[in-house]
Amino acid sequence: MGSLSANTFSPLDSNTLKNESKMVVDFISDYYNNIEKYPVRSEVQPGYLSAKLPQSAPCCPESLEDILKDVSDSILPGLTHWQSPNFFAYFQANASNAGFVGEMLCSGLNIVGFSWISSPAATELESLVMDWMGKLLNLPSSFLFSGNGGGVLHGSTCEAIVCTLAAARDKVLKRMGWDKITKLVVYASDQTHATLHKGTKLVGIPSSNIRSLSTSFSSGFSLSPQTLQEAIENDIKSGFIPLFLCATVGTTACGAVDPIKELGEIAKKYNIWLHIDAAYAGSACICPEFRHYLNGVELADSVSMNPHKWLLTNMDCCCLWVKQPYSLIDSLTSDAEYLRNAATESNNVVDYKDWQIALSKRFRALKLWVVIRRHGLSNLMYHIRSDVKLAKWFESLVGNDKRFEIVVPRRFALVCFRLKPKNGIDGSKLNRQLLFAVNESGRAFMTHGVAGGVYFLRCAIGSTLTEERHVSELWKLIQEKAQTILANATT
Ligand SMILES: *Cc1c(COP(=O)(O)O)cnc(C)c1O
Repeated sequence: MGSLSANTFSPLDSNTLKNESKMVVDFISDYYNNIEKYPVRSEVQPGYLSAKLPQSAPCCPESLEDILKDVSDSILPGLTHWQSPNFFAYFQANASNAGFVGEMLCSGLNIVGFSWISSPAATELESLVMDWMGKLLNLPSSFLFSGNGGGVLHGSTCEAIVCTLAAARDKVLKRMGWDKITKLVVYASDQTHATLHKGTKLVGIPSSNIRSLSTSFSSGFSLSPQTLQEAIENDIKSGFIPLFLCATVGTTACGAVDPIKELGEIAKKYNIWLHIDAAYAGSACICPEFRHYLNGVELADSVSMNPHKWLLTNMDCCCLWVKQPYSLIDSLTSDAEYLRNAATESNNVVDYKDWQIALSKRFRALKLWVVIRRHGLSNLMYHIRSDVKLAKWFESLVGNDKRFEIVVPRRFALVCFRLKPKNGIDGSKLNRQLLFAVNESGRAFMTHGVAGGVYFLRCAIGSTLTEERHVSELWKLIQEKAQTILANATT
């Protein structure tokens, strides 16, 4: 047996950290310099990677040079380039240098802030930054720690939805009896994100108890208060228990906004937990001209939004605010001897493990804090406004071409449009062909949506590097492909 000191293995050597992290930073910086050269959507076929990389893990250590070479040769070709200025798909996950260095700090310190004592600064900074962020959105003080509410950072809206559903469920079942779980009903529009359906199942409420309420073109795909009211009355008559309403500010398919105030009044009347999902468009509400979409938020029980979508915060970061932290804590608290400590017992501290699913917790607050400080509200607003301006411009380009139409009026930086049906050819067929041709070109990447049975193309503007010239090139590309498709459609 060798002595313990015979091995020179030193995985956290500070000099190596300095050298190798510089190599990685250089690598990433080169990547950004060249990002426009790659096809935006990856062109690889399923299984491509197993042909390139060994099938088993190495026994001996390898050099970072070798590893980075494999990242270049094998990984980059299999990436869809979310930070490309020609990425217009889904909703963007916009990165920034501040988000990156914030993430480096989080990863570099690598502490685990599940309870106050496990790293007091992690908890206290998170509470502070959640109050900052809440004030940027002009949330009522009832959602802030300074006003008896509070906020927590999750990794995703999906987690935020599961946690709030669990809190709402337990609050009601404690009173009515646990056997009533099959009677609980969850309401949302048919445009709500699929995460609500997943979350509902995860907290043990039958999927058949989700009321996916119809929306239509005429209402801009927002949920009608009257439709909600009727659904609730019907459920009560049939012996169901209305539990939870998820209203969306900026739906995923087409950016629709539910009328928070009117829906909130109904939720109050029936004692339903109102959650506002503003994953995408919440970021825009830091600008006074968009804030009105959150009017009525004071009637909600919880609100969530993802800075990792549109607020220059690298993945991952979801803000969740609740008015009654104790409802969340009641549901999510965990107790174990090895976690006992005096601070917790004093009841004077936040233990974030009781506000989330996992025990372990990343120091995401550091990242969001760096993002807010490094950009400042002024540049964050500039960022939102310049994306919206580009989207407006793209919308006008589309609107001026008679072959196209805007399908849903634009509210934020998402433009929903399509080629008009032609020569009796189904619009969905033409637009599928158009999307295919645009994405196949590698020059841009967009995705599609369907609302009211209509298939349309989504141009989601908001990648950090997107400039006017990229939007102009995108429009040229779309026109070029449309011309070919329409020419073939007539023959
Ligand atoms: C993106 C999105 C989600 C899902 O967010 P995750 O953080 O990926 O779970 C939920 N709701 C809306 C409206 C979204 O746009």
